[in-house]
Amino acid sequence: MSPQDSFGAHSRQAGPAARPDSAPQRARAVFLDRDGVVNVDHGYVGRWEDFEFVPGAVDAMRRLHQAGWQLVVVTNQSGIARGYYTEADYEALTARMKAELAAAGAPLAGVYHCPHHPKGSVAAYARDCDCRKPAPGMILRAARELTIDLAASVLVGDKDSDLQAADAAGVGRAIRVLAPGEAYKGAGVVASSLAHAVESGLITPAR
Ligand SMILES: [Mg+2]
Ligand SMILES: [Zn+2]
Repeated sequence: MSPQDSFGAHSRQAGPAARPDSAPQRARAVFLDRDGVVNVDHGYVGRWEDFEFVPGAVDAMRRLHQAGWQLVVVTNQSGIARGYYTEADYEALTARMKAELAAAGAPLAGVYHCPHHPKGSVAAYARDCDCRKPAPGMILRAARELTIDLAASVLVGDKDSDLQAADAAGVGRAIRVLAPGEAYKGAGVVASSLAHAVESGLITPAR
């Protein structure tokens, strides 16, 4: 090792410690829409029997976790407001999903859902809210609770409403995943799947 190399390594180590630590370190997150990104969107998936991981998604999430990203699911679940499944059904499915992902080396830092819909049939959930995407409520709440640096974060979604929520929340980048056979005409960054987005380097290492 040359003297220059040695000096460089030393100053890189000393740098962060020399800086006053005024604010807690904020994490970078990959916000993931659920249906159509993590699992196949069969329409109102509320029970584990209907939950099918998108091919390659679990492996992609493991790689993102290993690269230092926090994985945060943000999902509209109007099936609860519509009475297709209950909050308890949803929670049971979510517990199973989290356990499977953790076992696969892709633990979730958080899962946020919106059970509402203005035209819902279940009175408790039939209302306007600030969490149903395209509103940014779930992302903003995650950022508060998990101390996330939104500008340094990424969202992956399969609907315009996902990208609109990311934009409204101040998420730095958003990637639109296409449904099978979908010809997307909109602007922005597009990938055929979460796996494709990771494999093609669209989400660079967090550190
Ligand atoms: Mg979706
Ligand atoms: Zn809501």
